[in-house]
Amino acid sequence: MTSSILPGQPQLAYRGEQLFSEDVSLAALAREHGTPLYVYSKASMLAALAAYQRGFAGRRVQICYAMKANSSLGVLQVFAQAGCGFDIVSGGELVRVLAAGAVPAQVIFSGVGKTRAEMKQALQAGIGCFNVESEAELDVLSEVAVALGLRAPVSLRVNPNVDPKTHPYISTGLKGNKFGIAHEEAVRAYRHAAGLPGLKVVGIDCHIGSQITEATPYLDAMDRVLDLVADIEAAGIAIHHIDFGGGLGINYNGDTPPAADALWSQLLAKLDARGYGQRQLMVEPGRSLVGNAGVCLTEVLYLKPGEQKNFCIVDAAMNDLPRPAMYQAYHQIVPVTPRHADDTLYDVVGPVCESGDWIGHDRTLAVQAGDLLAVLSAGAYCMSMASNYNSRGRAAEILVDGLQAHVIRQRETIEDQLRHETLVPR
Ligand SMILES: *Cc1c(COP(=O)(O)O)cnc(C)c1O
Repeated sequence: MTSSILPGQPQLAYRGEQLFSEDVSLAALAREHGTPLYVYSKASMLAALAAYQRGFAGRRVQICYAMKANSSLGVLQVFAQAGCGFDIVSGGELVRVLAAGAVPAQVIFSGVGKTRAEMKQALQAGIGCFNVESEAELDVLSEVAVALGLRAPVSLRVNPNVDPKTHPYISTGLKGNKFGIAHEEAVRAYRHAAGLPGLKVVGIDCHIGSQITEATPYLDAMDRVLDLVADIEAAGIAIHHIDFGGGLGINYNGDTPPAADALWSQLLAKLDARGYGQRQLMVEPGRSLVGNAGVCLTEVLYLKPGEQKNFCIVDAAMNDLPRPAMYQAYHQIVPVTPRHADDTLYDVVGPVCESGDWIGHDRTLAVQAGDLLAVLSAGAYCMSMASNYNSRGRAAEILVDGLQAHVIRQRETIEDQLRHETLVPR
């Protein structure tokens, strides 16, 4: 008997009494590679990408995977081979994505604080577009490009000032945050860009936030951006591509975001109605391509009953999976091999010396020490945010493809961590 545990995620299912990712037993993976262990399903990533591809069928579009969601080489390679472009936010991400086989011309560079060195590196690599976030950045980018005898292709990230109705830390398109150029200042900024010798205006972009679960903020942002396209083009500056950013949410805990194809058929209808349907389009999805493709496997170390709370202490911690500590995020936690025993209410916590080190609060589980748990929806903003806090080595990562399980990252050792440190000579 097979039963899927996340709606729409057939790649993660119980077969009999065992949780599988595609055709691979998660218990077997944990035995072989240890825990904490990240496991990603290639089929699940490609299915998520296919929803975007269906949504944009017949359109001119470049889907740029926002790689900060999960920047492991083996994950990038899946998207590069599927023909994706990439949205990067640092020089380090540029090196990674080129190593994974990306086409430089399909790379776009976002972020509010690009350094001169990063600009130079990206210009020399021949990336497709810089998504610029301030007028000051325009001046610096032009200078760097002129010094290299090049012209930098630019898009301005405009701030449509719409509320994505998500967590404040991941909301980016409102007036009070650091991202983008205010709507009212955008035409002036475009004139400024068009007048600089080292720049070539190619597009416009926005990104209003993350884990968005409704279509309305996108529809509102699209209206605002198209208003600007009309104003900028009326000022004599051609906009070749329109980039609507990322942000589409996933189902963590009964969330019901629209499917990518359904969302985009709605958005494209608006685009058509306003006469922009045949433009070159771009999107920058991150979480929605990888989030539900990954699980983090962890072993129960100790059960610690208490007067007010019972604790289930596991070997994964906030350094491995930072989203709960960082955003109070919810991840479902399920047994890899369910027990037929009474449930108990637990806080599932890690070994790190912080009260903020928890993976899940108030979870009903039937577990014993030595059992394996799977933390679900752990493909995005988990491993890419992992750290060495408490001198813990970062987890290993596995990419499952049908019956095969490829190690895409070995577990980090203490020698790896100490490699760049030195004692002071005495
Ligand atoms: C983070 C980010 C994305 C991806 O966001 P998701 O919510 O993961 O889809 C896209 N564009 C920009 C500019 C970003 O900063």
